[in-house]
Amino acid sequence: MRLKRMMQGVGLVYVLLLLGLICPTLFTENQTKEKVQEVSDSNAGAYEGTAEEKPKIALTFDDGPSAECTPMLLDGLKERGVKVTFFLIGQNVEKDNNCEIVKRMYEEGHLIGNHTYHHVEITRVSNETAYQEIAMGNEAIKNI
Ligand SMILES: [Zn+2]
Repeated sequence: MRLKRMMQGVGLVYVLLLLGLICPTLFTENQTKEKVQEVSDSNAGAYEGTAEEKPKIALTFDDGPSAECTPMLLDGLKERGVKVTFFLIGQNVEKDNNCEIVKRMYEEGHLIGNHTYHHVEITRVSNETAYQEIAMGNEAIKNI
């Protein structure tokens, strides 16, 4: 029940299976630069990896941070040694003590992305509003 609430609170989880299938070693710690170079040099389509390499996935969590759910999520990720990407909403970043949660995300090795300031649907607003939403989201994150 708690897990279900946590998952709903955090928002959508995108499992980028395609990334794992196309570039299974793209994010291997020791080989990232070499593999990126190899992929960009080949210019021959998908990188298929070798037989001993396992497919990988990337996890992203949108709409945070949430003082109620995100610390519990961070605990679970830390226990399992999993690094993810959090796409944060600027106004949530600035709420209460959520800046401490954002610092924790960063300190524990997760990537942080911008999910606009007010969680607007970027394709349904003017270019100027879209720019402002992205700029304000960046500012909220950069301030921390
Ligand atoms: Zn969202």
